[in-house]
Amino acid sequence: MAFILHKKTILMFLAFFLIFAIITSCAKIILAGSPKAKYTIVIDAGHGGIDGGSVGKNGSIEAELNLEYAKTLKTMMSDFGFNVVMTRENENGLYSPLAKNKKKDDMKKRKEIIEKSNADFVISIHMNSYTSYSHGAQVFYGAGDETSKALAQKIQDYFIKNLVSARQEIKVGDYYILNAIKAPSVLVECGFLSNPAEEKLLASDEYKKEVCYNILLGVLSFFS
Ligand SMILES: [Zn+2]
Repeated sequence: MAFILHKKTILMFLAFFLIFAIITSCAKIILAGSPKAKYTIVIDAGHGGIDGGSVGKNGSIEAELNLEYAKTLKTMMSDFGFNVVMTRENENGLYSPLAKNKKKDDMKKRKEIIEKSNADFVISIHMNSYTSYSHGAQVFYGAGDETSKALAQKIQDYFIKNLVSARQEIKVGDYYILNAIKAPSVLVECGFLSNPAEEKLLASDEYKKEVCYNILLGVLSFFS
């Protein structure tokens, strides 16, 4: 009799231990799926290689400025704990030398980098060009993309508040980098190279830091 009772106790203890183990491992699985500590941002310096983009009256080349801005933004975002992935980190385009349509191949490669990185969001850096009196930084987003629109608005708000030259509103942009990417993505036109005064401003180290710092503030505000 005593042996039977003892056996029952052992079985009950084993059952209890099994249930406890199952609950513990379930909790571990749930915790593992909790929000990650770090956001991954892809910073995309527009153009590169044979595609220089816009050229200013004083000779500034968009592709070069885009890269400088992208690198500065990378440093700032990394310092704030973001995991940063760049689509390009030198003057070269991303296309294969053998590609027939280099622009198309370049954009395809950018898309691949963004998708592979599992980006939480994407910021593409460009310089605008229109008339010699057009001016101001402006953020673009894809049509119908409310999350990207909200991010664009946050950045634009800081541009309006802190930059000497900013457009008054965000705008829908029909760009591949906005349309082909699933992650929220915005395209920042930092200013107009077609305007000689703004070209000078854009080429200065101080203004570059100001623009990048305000992009960072917009991003932080978006995530808060
Ligand atoms: Zn551009």
